[in-house]
Order: sequence, then C-alpha cells, then structure tokens
Amino acid sequence: MGKLETKAEKRLGAAVDRWRDRFWLKQHDVTIRFVDTKIKKGAMSTIAAEMDATPRYKEMRMVVHKGWLEEAKPSEIEDVVCHEIVHAVLAPLKDVAAAMLKKLPKEARLGFCEWLDKENEAVTTHLEHIFRREARWPKR
Ligand SMILES: [Zn+2]
Repeated sequence: MGKLETKAEKRLGAAVDRWRDRFWLKQHDVTIRFVDTKIKKGAMSTIAAEMDATPRYKEMRMVVHKGWLEEAKPSEIEDVVCHEIVHAVLAPLKDVAAAMLKKLPKEARLGFCEWLDKENEAVTTHLEHIFRREARWPKR
C-alpha cells in the first residue's frame, strides 16, 4: 500500500482497507500515492482523490491530494474513500462502455464519452451515499 506517515495518511489507509473489504475487493492490490497539488481553498472538495482501477489484474491505484487530506475531517475521509472504492467496483462496467464507444466513428461518439463520465460519477455518488448512510444507520 505504500508508506503511510502522517496521522491523516494512516486514517485514510485504514479506511481504504475497511471499504475494500466491505466491497469484497480484498484480493485487490491498492497503491496509494499522495500528491502535492496546489489547490485554492474552497475548491478542495472537488479535488480530493482519484481512482484508477484495473479489474482484470485486481489492481487499484488511488491518488490522494495532500492539500485536501490535511484539511479533511474523519467523516470526509470516509466519504471520499467509500466513493473511490465504489469507482473500483464499477470500473468493469465503465471499461466495457468506454471500449464500445471507441468502436464508434468519431461523429457518432460525440457526447457519449461525457455522458458516460457524468453517469459514472452520478451512480458512484448515489451508491456512496447509500453505503455511507448505511454505515451510520441506525445510530444517528
Ligand atoms: Zn468520483
């Protein structure tokens, strides 16, 4: 998983382990890379982390923006990690759709790539909300 140094990095690493198990991706290798991105205050929630998964090889690569992590509350770390792991769950479907789109002539493809990205993000967020609410449920 890489070396986790700060308290926030360790918290994030523990969350990755937990959500990976929860989503039955225990056999997947996870690489976490922390990057120093200069981001404006207030724009942090939009650029927290990114997931790149190769389901075929059971690999997940997560990029985490240090600027976000340093400011993140524990619950925000849970939200983001849950979200990124859902991306890994959905990666096989997204990969099939993206491969099919590539077979289309360029003019027929127009708009579909953006649509795919938008819906992939929307479904991921929807599932993240269900699982995060369920993780807190029924204690409120
Ligand atoms: Zn996302």
